Amino acid sequence: MSTRATIAPTRATMRSTRSVPAVGRVQSSAKASMGAKVQMMSARKAMGERVQMKARSQQTARATRFVVTAAKNTIIAGAPASGKGTQCEGIVENFGLTHISTGDMLRAAVKAGTDAGKAAKEFMDAGKLVPDEVIIAMVKDRLGEEDCKTKGWLLDGFPRTGAQADALVEIGVSPDVVLLLNVPDEELIKRVVGRRSDPETGKIYHVDYFPAPAGEVADRCIQRSDDTEEACRSRLGYYYENLEALKNAYSDKMVSIDGNQDKALVGELIAKAMV
Ligand code: AMP
Repeated sequence: MSTRATIAPTRATMRSTRSVPAVGRVQSSAKASMGAKVQMMSARKAMGERVQMKARSQQTARATRFVVTAAKNTIIAGAPASGKGTQCEGIVENFGLTHISTGDMLRAAVKAGTDAGKAAKEFMDAGKLVPDEVIIAMVKDRLGEEDCKTKGWLLDGFPRTGAQADALVEIGVSPDVVLLLNVPDEELIKRVVGRRSDPETGKIYHVDYFPAPAGEVADRCIQRSDDTEEACRSRLGYYYENLEALKNAYSDKMVSIDGNQDKALVGELIAKAMV
């Protein structure tokens, strides 16, 4: 698979607009005047067509600005609530990668009551890292699936330790880019305790910064059991403990991004880093 992502304009965006016939000079005789009127009408019609064609072309250009012809295997890293989940929505939309969130996989395993889920639950609730062997086995299996091979992948929340990064090297899996979102700790705590998610769509909201639509959606939103201040401080501790190992593993591929700004601006910086 090619690892280089390119933005490709469609043929429609490259098509130039046709030239418009010039409006003729008005002549003195009635015949000439009638001829001029007809000429004028056809020029107006052509002008109208031209405007419509230009509008269509501009619409197509807007719609295709982020059409990408090749995937770029990506790791996104950052502290809890640094915006990884939110930014992954945009990355998937723009680049069509297969999103692999280890947090989501583990929560699904807990819900389904699998052995891995049972082994993971107490670590997750305490804000601790799940043992490497549990999560490495899950990720190895997932990366072997067809959609990762055909579309490329976006690893969200993995690797989180040096041992996990080594495991990727062992199976010959290497990212093209590693995005690191940086946000100050106190902002992270605020984001964590107010975070809510919609179990039906997976969309992430915040009680103050980005409230869920009132009514049905807001009513069904839930708070993660590990989104407490205490568990968040514990998760932050593990994050900083392992950050150096990740920086060392991906020193040549890591792009540091200020995640403490408007999410659209963060998204723009990410898109730039990925093309
Ligand atoms: P997240 O949704 O990424 O914040 O992950 C939620 C929880 O799942 C973490 O606090 C850990 O307990 C566990 N977890 C997710 N990814 C990993 C990983 N790569 N290694 C160990 N534990 C993980």
